[in-house]
Amino acid sequence: MSDDIKKSRLSVLSSHLIHLPPESSVMASEKEAALAAAPSDSPTIFDKIINKEIPSTVVYEDDKVLAFRDIAPQAPTHILIIPKKRDGLTGLSKAEERHTEILGHLLYTAKLVAKQEGLEDGFRIVINDGPQGCQSVYHIHVHLIGGRQMNWPPG
Ligand code: AMP
Repeated sequence: MSDDIKKSRLSVLSSHLIHLPPESSVMASEKEAALAAAPSDSPTIFDKIINKEIPSTVVYEDDKVLAFRDIAPQAPTHILIIPKKRDGLTGLSKAEERHTEILGHLLYTAKLVAKQEGLEDGFRIVINDGPQGCQSVYHIHVHLIGGRQMNWPPG
């Protein structure tokens, strides 16, 4: 193999390595984002997604909920399911009895979307809450994650 070919293969390989951060650095930035996001009632980026002011890949929608692909997927399938009206539900820890219907609807939607996405072999549902739970967006959301083998315990 000529030196030129060797050099070009090496540069392709290193460019891939540079663009694929190790899982630990992705996890660190998620954690940093969560720790930087103070719990708040202010509008969030999800309002802009609901109002179609910024683009998202919607996979399911009805009058109460919206499901769209996460911008930083942690698995081949990673979808967020949110209520269209936040109604005080910045996070699960703020739930009151009046929220039981929408909470059930979010979970039932997760089941419908999992089927729609072909996740017959299983999937994971996550609701992060608060800084220690790694929540970064204060509009309750259910993560639907699948398409690969999950591990336990979670990080
Ligand atoms: P959490 O850390 O549980 O609050 O989850 C918030 C999620 O929102 C993260 O997984 C982000 O990747 C995701 N996210 C943030 N902005 C967007 C966006 N514009 N479109 C889709 N997902 C987003």
